[in-house]
Amino acid sequence: MAGTRRNEPKGRKALEAGQVPRAAAESRLRAETIEGYNRHVNPYVVRALSAASLDIIETSREGARVWDADGTCYIDCATGAGIFNCGRRNPEIAARLKAALERADMGSWLSLMPERARLAKKLAEIAPGRLQYSFFTCGGGEAVDTAIKLARGYTGKSRIVAMRNGYHGVTGFALPATGREVYKSPFEPLAPGFVHIPYNDLRALEDALDEDTAAVIMETVQGEGGIVVPDDGYLPAVRRLCDERSVLLILDEIQTGLGRTGKMFGCENWGVAPDIMCLAKALSGGMIPISAAIYTPEIADFFIANPFIHINSFGGTALACTAALAAIEYIETNDLPRHAAAMGDRLRRGLREVAAGYPELAREVRGIGLMNGIEYCDESIGPRMSLQLKRNGVLSIYTFNNPKVVRIMPPLVITAAEVDAVVEAFDRAMAAVRAQGI
Ligand code: PLP
Repeated sequence: MAGTRRNEPKGRKALEAGQVPRAAAESRLRAETIEGYNRHVNPYVVRALSAASLDIIETSREGARVWDADGTCYIDCATGAGIFNCGRRNPEIAARLKAALERADMGSWLSLMPERARLAKKLAEIAPGRLQYSFFTCGGGEAVDTAIKLARGYTGKSRIVAMRNGYHGVTGFALPATGREVYKSPFEPLAPGFVHIPYNDLRALEDALDEDTAAVIMETVQGEGGIVVPDDGYLPAVRRLCDERSVLLILDEIQTGLGRTGKMFGCENWGVAPDIMCLAKALSGGMIPISAAIYTPEIADFFIANPFIHINSFGGTALACTAALAAIEYIETNDLPRHAAAMGDRLRRGLREVAAGYPELAREVRGIGLMNGIEYCDESIGPRMSLQLKRNGVLSIYTFNNPKVVRIMPPLVITAAEVDAVVEAFDRAMAAVRAQGI
């Protein structure tokens, strides 16, 4: 059971069966790691992770679970904000990657890579609407940078309309698109031409679009903004408005893509297709960094005419593309979107039943598929709940732009029994926080 030290994945005992007793080895590993962070990474990271109850050292991973160095098992509902859709260290993806390593390295970006061609073809097959070409990068921010450069290059216009509380990363063009000042103010002046409007507000969007607007960028469901699912009519209306005003629509599906919301892509919940879509996080099944901006043939014309105007050494390496293809095939073969929809319904039902018994603590349980959040009545409750959830075998983390909301975003392979275990842990954690007093 999660939270105990008994449920160990196969091979783990053998792995640690040295002469050193586990407790001593574990405390040495922990001390060494913390010292390394404190002296050579950033001591604040250790403190922040500890405050968020995420200061574990992952030593084993399987399905929806991770094991700390001390052998404690947790259900991972943090998943690095949606990286591990295919489960932790998915064995099928790992095997494909291992086999690739027998013959390949990353591949030179100044060569033709069959793996990249295959992944781009697969993405064109599964992507919504007419998205057909992919540019590969390493992280989410770079995929957003690519999308914004493409939108400006293709339209010849500069203005980008983004959303308050939206999160798109911290790189050159993603940072000004991100809708929270705290990330931005020390680094000004940022790239100009970005305006921010409230999410889920059509009137604000109508007013914001002008002749110089190249694109609107938004998350399909706001993640760091506090798991904000838009009203049903919002995205279709945004699409219509963009078409009427000849403005491109960029959807950031970095958290919502690849099955998370119960569809392969979040926008499919509302029958909408963007002009440019950004993917990252779960794209390689949590094995190796890769991200992508995927776009229509017309928009591709800009890069086709300027093939070396936007380049990188490591976007879409042979290994990353191999893992990404394996991850997409795993998602399709196991119909993870459908499973995510069913497990999400079960999870929200359970969490809501529990939350109803603690009205002084929890304000709302919301989400779609396995992208869920609990909004607490006060910012201080979230971190206390994360601690109590951890004590009860569940890892969770608040959303960065709205700390009142704790996200519950487990791997999409989570079982019904594990969903029920998360709900039980939530009940026990709420009881513990109530007992402490607000
Ligand atoms: N877009 C969204 C919606 C995200 O959630 C994130 C990261 O959390 C990013 C972009 C940035 O991705 P990365 O951290 O890989 O640059």
